[in-house]
Amino acid sequence: MAAFFCCSTFYPKDTRIIMTTSLMNTYGTRALTLVKGEACRVWDIDGKEYLDALSGIAVCGLGHAHPAIAKAISEQASTLVHTSNLYNLPVQQQAGDDLCAASGMDQVFFSNSGAEANEAALKIARKYGNDKGISAPTVITMNGSFHGRTMATLSATGNTKVKQGFTPLVEGFVHVPFNDVAAVESLGTNQNIVAILVEPIQGEGGIRVPADDYLNELRRICDQHDWLLMVDEIQTGNGRTGHHFAHHASGIKPDVLTTAKGLGNGLPVGACLTAGAANNVLQPGNHGSTYGGNPIACAAVSAVIDTFAKEHIIEGVREKSAYLEVGFKKALQDKKTVKEYRQKGFMIGIELEHDCADLVAKAADKGLLINVTAGNVIRLLPPLIMSKTEIDTTIKIIAALID
Ligand code: PLP
Repeated sequence: MAAFFCCSTFYPKDTRIIMTTSLMNTYGTRALTLVKGEACRVWDIDGKEYLDALSGIAVCGLGHAHPAIAKAISEQASTLVHTSNLYNLPVQQQAGDDLCAASGMDQVFFSNSGAEANEAALKIARKYGNDKGISAPTVITMNGSFHGRTMATLSATGNTKVKQGFTPLVEGFVHVPFNDVAAVESLGTNQNIVAILVEPIQGEGGIRVPADDYLNELRRICDQHDWLLMVDEIQTGNGRTGHHFAHHASGIKPDVLTTAKGLGNGLPVGACLTAGAANNVLQPGNHGSTYGGNPIACAAVSAVIDTFAKEHIIEGVREKSAYLEVGFKKALQDKKTVKEYRQKGFMIGIELEHDCADLVAKAADKGLLINVTAGNVIRLLPPLIMSKTEIDTTIKIIAALID
C-alpha cells in the first residue's frame, strides 16, 4: 500500500476511506483527519497545522501530548494496565485522594465517561429516595441542560433534540427553566423530589451563565427539603472556569459532584464524588464498572492534578481569561451580528443573531478549531495553557469570520 510522510508518522494513503466505512455514522461528516497534537496545536493527515481553541471539547486542558501526562500514562502502561476492582489498586486510591483533596468532596466512584458519572449520581439519588421510603424518586433538572447520551442521562437532559427517537424515556425527572429559583421552589410540595441535578454553567446549552447566587439558592432549597444538590461539572470542572471546580466560586458544597472531560486530559475517565448525606448511599453490590478506575486512567488523573499545582494552571486561567475578555469585547464591539458575548474563565460563548454552523469549517480553513453549539453560539473551550499570543490569534480569526 502506498504511504506518505506526515507529521513524522507514515499513514496509508487511503486511510481516510477505510476510516469512514466501518464506523456507525453517529457523528455525521467529519471533515478533518487529525493525527498529531502538541500543546495548543494539532496537525491533520496532510501536515496542516491548526490552533486548537476547543481542546477536544474541554478535555485536553493541559494541551496535547503534555510530557508529564504522557510519562505517567506510559510508566503505568508498562507496570500494570488492568487487574479488576475485585482488588485494591494503589494508583486508584491515590487518584481518589488527589481528587477529593482538589474538590473538597469525601468519596469517589470512578467511571469511564461523563454520562456514566451522571448515571452513578442518578442511582445515588434514587437509592437515597428509596432508603427514605420514596418509591418514585424524582430529580429536578434544567431546560437547556445536557447530561449525556445514556438512557437515564438523556432523559435527564433538558433538550428535546437529544431525546427524539428514544422513547420510552426513563421516568423520574421534572424539568424547570435554568436560572429560575422560583420554579424550583414551586416544587417544594412534591413529596417525590429527592435531588436537583444542575450544571453551574450550561455548556452544550450555549455557555449559559446563571446569576452569581444561583447555586447558593439551590443549596438553600435542598437543605430546606432534604434534597441532594448534584452538580454536573463534567464540562465546567478541572480548572475550566478559573477554579478547580466552578461551584467553588459560590462557596457551596454539593452532596454529589460529577466530572470527566479534563479530568484525565484525554484518557477516558469520569468521577462521581459525594459528601454529607450522599456519602455511603451506594453499598457493596449497588454499583460497579469493569474499567472504572482503570490504573492508566487513574495515573492520568493524579498527573493532571499534580501538573495543575506545579504549573499554576488555575492562576494562569484567571489571569489570561481577563485578557481574553478584554480582547474579545474590543474585537466584537462593532459587530452587529453579535447578540451576546458570554464568558467564564476559558468557557466562551459568542451568540450570533443567526445560525452559524458553517463557521466551523471556515475557521478550520484558517487553521483554527472551534465549535458551534445551540445553532447560533460560537463555543470556544481553549486549552488552559493557551498563551496570550495564541489568544490574540484566536480573537483575530473569530472577528474576521464574523465579519
Ligand atoms: N454532562 C455535561 C455537562 C457535558 O458537557 C457532557 C458532555 O459534553 C456530559 C455530561 C456527557 O459526558 P460524556 O460525553 O463523557 O459521556
